[in-house]
Amino acid sequence: MEKGAQLYEGKAKKVFATEDPDLLIVSYKDDATAFNGQKRGTIIGKGVINNKMSNALMSMLQKHGIPTHFVEQLSDRDTLVKRVEIVPLEVIVRNISAGSFAKNYGVQEGIVFSEPTVEFTYKNDALGDPLLNDSHALALGLTTREELEQIRNYALQIDKLLQSFWLSCGVTLVDFKLEFGRLSDGTVILADEISPDTCRLWDSKTGEKLDKDRFRRDLGGVEDAYHEIMSRLEKQMETKE
Ligand code: UDP
Repeated sequence: MEKGAQLYEGKAKKVFATEDPDLLIVSYKDDATAFNGQKRGTIIGKGVINNKMSNALMSMLQKHGIPTHFVEQLSDRDTLVKRVEIVPLEVIVRNISAGSFAKNYGVQEGIVFSEPTVEFTYKNDALGDPLLNDSHALALGLTTREELEQIRNYALQIDKLLQSFWLSCGVTLVDFKLEFGRLSDGTVILADEISPDTCRLWDSKTGEKLDKDRFRRDLGGVEDAYHEIMSRLEKQMETKE
């Protein structure tokens, strides 16, 4: 499948048309942004890692009954995906307090929740992705009650599957962000990516951060962290084969 016209360039990916109107090619870049685009940089090799990691995790989820947009990895940076209309919600699942949760509610990072939290933000850069609840999402016409219910169920199932996968790699899944999309018949499937850009991943023993927080907070060792988390995933995938 060849790349056609570029349809879109986002912060971390470009999207291309293909000869099949139902399929797109996403191409992962090394560009990194944080704080709604205010901080910019490059993480060398990130695009390759995020592409491969997202594909491996989506394949795993798919095997466990979660429908995803993943079709086929075409190269180190390029992947064929199903075309969807993105539901303009960022779906955030948290197992442990961190990031904006710790900041907004004035608590420390690292509190282990007795059950996961699911929250939604309105995917709108101009507004800074504001937090919203179910009734806000319905009032804004972003989704339907049925879709929200389905998205919440998928998000919690995905949390269980990802937590247990990462645990087997010696990694604690702190929180993550998902995006869902609709196929032309209205079916809701998982889209976007699952990577160290979109998850908080801590070494289970040392608590070391192995994700984009190293970039956001200028902790150093950014590239090393991305390589470390990828090599843990690859080792685990090999032993499962
Ligand atoms: N996240 C993301 N994109 C966003 C906002 C958050 O991928 O635009 C991810 C982030 O990497 C983390 C989780 O969602 O794993 C929760 O992020 P949080 O709300 O704490 O916001 P942050 O502190 O990253 O601004």
